[in-house]
Amino acid sequence: MGFIDQWLKADVPGLVGSEWRHTGTTFDVDNPATGEIIAQVADMGADDARDAVAAAYEAGSAWRKTPAKQRHALLHRWFTLIMEHADDLARLMTLEQGKPLVESRGEVAYGASFIEFFAEEAKRMAGETLPTHAADKRLLVLREPVGVVAAITPWNFPLAMITRKCAPALAAGCTVVIKPAEATPLTALAAAYLALEAGLPAGTINVVTAKTPAAVGDVLTSDARVRKVSFTGSTPVGKHLMAQCASTVKKTAMELGGNAPFIVFDDADIDAAVSGALASKYRNAGQTCVCTNRFLVQDGIYDRFVAKLAERVEALQVGNGLEDGTTIGPLINQAAIDKVQRHVDDAVSQGARLICGGKPHAAGERFFAPTVLADVTPDMRVATEETFGPLAPVFRFTKDEDAIAMANDTPFGLAAYFYASDYRRIWHTMEALEYGMVGVNEGIISTELAPFGGVKESGLGREGSHHGLEEFTELKYVCVGGL
Ligand code: NAD
Repeated sequence: MGFIDQWLKADVPGLVGSEWRHTGTTFDVDNPATGEIIAQVADMGADDARDAVAAAYEAGSAWRKTPAKQRHALLHRWFTLIMEHADDLARLMTLEQGKPLVESRGEVAYGASFIEFFAEEAKRMAGETLPTHAADKRLLVLREPVGVVAAITPWNFPLAMITRKCAPALAAGCTVVIKPAEATPLTALAAAYLALEAGLPAGTINVVTAKTPAAVGDVLTSDARVRKVSFTGSTPVGKHLMAQCASTVKKTAMELGGNAPFIVFDDADIDAAVSGALASKYRNAGQTCVCTNRFLVQDGIYDRFVAKLAERVEALQVGNGLEDGTTIGPLINQAAIDKVQRHVDDAVSQGARLICGGKPHAAGERFFAPTVLADVTPDMRVATEETFGPLAPVFRFTKDEDAIAMANDTPFGLAAYFYASDYRRIWHTMEALEYGMVGVNEGIISTELAPFGGVKESGLGREGSHHGLEEFTELKYVCVGGL
């Protein structure tokens, strides 16, 4: 039996401590490209969640005392095992999530990069000594692990959203309970299996799978032993979880939705802008939180940009992600297809011009044709709602300040992009954008080396870089007196 086959069967267990737990009831996981059911996974509930928290809590007392160098070695071994199984993991990801195999391979490498990076950072989690205010006292600051972390993750990046949380948590000396998305639990389970294979002690990593998340979520947000909830997903669910966490005053990290603007000024290198637009809009079929949601293009370059973008979009290859050459896979479910269609219909009914696409694609029920809409205006739904699909709405502006005002006219503030060449314009725009991340002449910005996260209703906290490790630590001030 190959590594991948053990996750493609009728009774896949969750993970509680050292126990691969079957629950008697399961839920279906399907392949969005075909609708075929590929596995049935343990449908766990509140009791399983409590057991997982208990296992994490018990494992935590030894794990936080494990020397940093040893934590580094175990995490590094986990990284190596993931890379050794990269092809199988990528295939599993494409089967349950739909993204083209080449993107799944990219996500495995990207997801693993967080483990490699934080394995190193484990050795650099230093405290401080401070100047004192009295001759007989010394002041120390210890940096300590937060404790048990609940990691609740979405389906659009089935591996990376987990490693971006678990790797820094484990590096810092925390233990974790993962609640993966119901559409994509298999990659999460496979990753946890490899963590145990790498030698991470039982209980440091637990996976609670569930068809309906509320019962598990209630435990993870209210159990006093959980000290941090790190969530990636939609803004409404994030707000709900934050409110639930208030009762036990947990730390929270919230990586939420976006409404990314992509501004093209008329001094931009148009071919570079179109390439950046394609990468930032259509990867993962438009289902990433940092995907461009609105293209804002200046008058002088507008018609040429729309024509060149449409030419490149029409060349995209829609199909099953397992097939060679596919660049756009299916959307995750029917609701996602319906949302894209609603956004297209609303815009067209109010005067937007359909340049290409605009309807479901013949490749199958969950495929939507890559779409470009021109003459889009701020009163259309696409201006305010995250489409999360392969739709590029192109707005027009005349003055720089109008573009900045349109870009910032949203409760969200995750990623923004712009293309320009004048250096004053670049500086002014970069500073004026109310976003956690800005791509300047660049459409792909995510890396484990930089802090990822948003402002406003896009969230709290940062993942990646040394900031990502600090999020899983508490500072303890110690005053030593009588010296
Ligand atoms: P979602 O909010 O529906 O679900 C995310 C996770 O929360 C899933 O595991 C789900 O089961 C769980 N969940 C839902 N209700 C819950 C509850 N009551 N208690 C506990 N858990 C609960 O989001 P989604 O549809 O899976 O993902 C898409 C959204 O995620 C988009 O808005 C996207 O922008 C956002 N996202 C943000 C980032 C980021 O880094 N900011 C990254 C990826 C996705």
